Amino acid sequence: MDVKVLRGRVLSFLEEPQAIDDVASYRYIEDGAVVVGGGKILMIGEFNAKAAAQHEVIDHRPYLVMAGFIDPHIHFPQMQVIGSYAANLLEWLNTYTFVEEQRFADPAHSTRIASKFFDELIRHGTTTASAYCTIHPNSVDAFFGEAAKRDMLMLGGKVMMDRNAPAGLCDTPQSGYDESKALLEKWHGQGRAHYVITPRFAITSSHEQMEMAEALAREYPDNHIQTHVDENLAEVEFARELFPNLPDYLGIYERYHLLGPKTLLGHCIHLTHRECEVLAATRSVAVWCPTSNLFIGSGLFDHDRLHAHGARIAVATDVGGGSSYSMLRTLDEGYKVMQLRGQRLNPLRSFYMMTLGNARALSLEGRIGALTPGADADLVVLDARATPQMALRMEAVDSLANELFLLQTCGDDRAVAETYVMGRAMKSGLGAQGRVSALPSPLEGEGGA
Ligand SMILES: [Zn+2]
Repeated sequence: MDVKVLRGRVLSFLEEPQAIDDVASYRYIEDGAVVVGGGKILMIGEFNAKAAAQHEVIDHRPYLVMAGFIDPHIHFPQMQVIGSYAANLLEWLNTYTFVEEQRFADPAHSTRIASKFFDELIRHGTTTASAYCTIHPNSVDAFFGEAAKRDMLMLGGKVMMDRNAPAGLCDTPQSGYDESKALLEKWHGQGRAHYVITPRFAITSSHEQMEMAEALAREYPDNHIQTHVDENLAEVEFARELFPNLPDYLGIYERYHLLGPKTLLGHCIHLTHRECEVLAATRSVAVWCPTSNLFIGSGLFDHDRLHAHGARIAVATDVGGGSSYSMLRTLDEGYKVMQLRGQRLNPLRSFYMMTLGNARALSLEGRIGALTPGADADLVVLDARATPQMALRMEAVDSLANELFLLQTCGDDRAVAETYVMGRAMKSGLGAQGRVSALPSPLEGEGGA
């Protein structure tokens, strides 16, 4: 077995931090070592030169070594939609997103974008994500195929949508069911792939399609479900018009038995009191997407209200409505959203959310999200002096919590010194063009023309 010792300042969360001085919520080792082998974390502890002597040692001091970041809501086909100028969600979808997603009928386009997508995640220190593909089965094949080349633990699924979208982006209740089932059977459990049943949102799925999603969820109770809810006021109104006899937007998913501990609900901004209670009672996960909510102007997620209801909360980028792949940028905007609501987000809690918190939200604790023996060796190495102004600011930083806060406030992909997937250094393998150099490039073999 190829055993490596990663030396650095090791940080891993044990529990949800309750305050900025909650030292019991994490383990921190100033001169620590994470021993990896066979794709797993074998042990963590103080660095021991004698014990390490027989293995390859990679010295990441003075950087922080943490579990890789987890992004539980992202749209891989929207890489070329980021930064599109629109007044609101429905205009943004119709003008840009639904146009772009039709290009994924082309397998070559799907593969090209999927490859760039994973390179971008690696560049930003994200080792697991839950992604929406398009309606096209080949987009799912490209997504899981490229993830498998990099051995990344990924969740994803074909979006099911049969109305209120261009004809080129609509399936039917039957074809949406058949294709989802075939893709689930093909990919789920292959290597590190997790198939997610993905009715896009209630606006683009008819009653008949929602029944088909319900049938899939019943047949495959272990699989995740992902969709959107209560993102934007006009969207909420439209959804309620489409399902007039139900109490509210979340009530639509409740009606089709799509709520539960493996259900990921993007946004959850404009929830009624009843919806908060249903969310908490079903153990469904509210996925907060701060850069997206600010960029599209959807609203300010009410973190403390949901927390008080006992609801499970995850935090995600929602690229391309979101404006950055970086979980650091995401939590920075999340911090500001909470400031505007008069709420506090302490940096320990931010970094917990990016790692163990999101792993718990995905029901993947023990496999990813923390540096524990037996877990998959997915890690990120963070440099809080990555830019001149960060280095200058670090001269005045005197605690771990303040270092994390600086990383969150000023950091981005430049602060990610390395990303490990199954114990393999991935970011340093990205070439100048941003591709994993070990992967075949479409430009290779063309004689440098
Ligand atoms: Zn989304």
